Amino acid sequence: MTTTASAARTIPQTVEHLRAVFDAGTTRPLIWRRRQLEGLRRLLTEQRPALAEAIDADLRRGRFEAALFDLVPTVAEVDHALKHLRGWMRPQRVPTPLLAEPGRSWVQREPLGVVLVISPWNYPVHLALAPMVAALAAGDCVVLKPSELAPTVSAVLARLLPEYVEGTAVVVGAADETMQLIDQGLDHVFFTGSPAVGRIIMRAASEHLTPVTLELGGKSPAVVSRSANLRVAAKRIAFGKVTNSGQTCIAPDYVLVERSVRDEFLRHLDEVVEQLTGGAPLPIVSERHADRLSKLVASAGGERMRGGPADRNALTMPFTVIADPLEDADVMAEEIFGPVLPVVTVDGLDDAIARIRSGGRPLAAYLFTRDGREQRRFLDRVSAGGVTINHTMLHLQVPGLPFGGVGTSGTGNYHGRWGFETFSHAKAVLRQGTRFDLPLLYPPYVGRRRRVLERML
Ligand code: NAD
Repeated sequence: MTTTASAARTIPQTVEHLRAVFDAGTTRPLIWRRRQLEGLRRLLTEQRPALAEAIDADLRRGRFEAALFDLVPTVAEVDHALKHLRGWMRPQRVPTPLLAEPGRSWVQREPLGVVLVISPWNYPVHLALAPMVAALAAGDCVVLKPSELAPTVSAVLARLLPEYVEGTAVVVGAADETMQLIDQGLDHVFFTGSPAVGRIIMRAASEHLTPVTLELGGKSPAVVSRSANLRVAAKRIAFGKVTNSGQTCIAPDYVLVERSVRDEFLRHLDEVVEQLTGGAPLPIVSERHADRLSKLVASAGGERMRGGPADRNALTMPFTVIADPLEDADVMAEEIFGPVLPVVTVDGLDDAIARIRSGGRPLAAYLFTRDGREQRRFLDRVSAGGVTINHTMLHLQVPGLPFGGVGTSGTGNYHGRWGFETFSHAKAVLRQGTRFDLPLLYPPYVGRRRRVLERML
């Protein structure tokens, strides 16, 4: 079913309406943008109970955790934008070369127009609204297409967003609605989701030459060196995998641990998992994902240290650790996106780096070591969307850092100023006066003029 912010509107009408708002120049002034960001902030604070309840209904994450992982970071994103927006909008002067003198040159950031944000189910509020923060800051109108796998959140956003924010619409639906939206020939598509759907989105957008940002996933490794604090490493890796049951794009997907500390690391891991989960199984979003995860565990080989298959009736799964799975097992090939942690023994940092480099470039990479030389080598050799050293996932929380993938884990980025830039065009401007006209520029290039020009070349 398709519903939009203005329930009676079809998708073409919704886009047409937003285009009219944009074309009227409504969204350009700083004051309008600030007002929408403040509206988003009020939505997130006044409606916190309703939003947390909706997240809990869709993901069984618990209201406190829903607020902690979805709502709090989104408010932080709004606050950062409100604080810096004036500075971001300021034109940036650049030097003017002699041939373009007398003149002034600057970069002026202009909004793109009507943009589409397509979001996944795993952080259904944050991944819908954080890109929207960037788009509104940039002065765009936004159509949001939230995930059909988080239907309660999608319905709440469709109902509430228009009450708090202008220049936006929510289209509830799945693949068909997404494709219909892209076919409206929008000014940007910002997609968060799987690499498989990312390909479909990019192909469809290319028909209209609509630029895309793809925030995808993949296998994010965590490397544990013999120079790591093993207890801390185990706890922080387990934290990354327990959070939202491992259904996080930057969760540590698997561990590469140095041979000499493997057994000790596994011992610590077992203890901290018990501490963090109390031995209780973790919620899984759907039967399809429960079946997929059970299959990954069944075909993994290696030694199962704890855990086991998912319970498809209860939609839960115990935290599962598999030591040294088969090299060609599916669990080592596809993104796990659940509470299953393969731990693979390696000979040292260079072996770990070689293994990471042999796959697609990850969205995140983690290294646990106290050795500065190892840290530098890792940063130098491993290409990844982002890196946290000696913890997992926290680079996401730093507003000054871009968030996005590289290669197969995505293209483009956002958060803070980076998001503002993604959703705006860097217009190049040179302004000249008319009182003085540089004769050097014009043909015929002969005589003295030619000699001067030749000297300049
Ligand atoms: P998904 O790709 O299945 O769905 C994402 C969105 O695409 C949804 O809104 C969905 O309705 C739409 N969609 C699905 N199939 C479509 C089709 N055939 N045509 C057009 N649109 C379609 O992803 P998901 O299961 O919701 O999320 C999990 C994936 O997202 C994982 O791979 C994860 O790593 C990734 N992810 C990435 C980030 C990031 O910030 N990089 C964040 C969260 C999740």
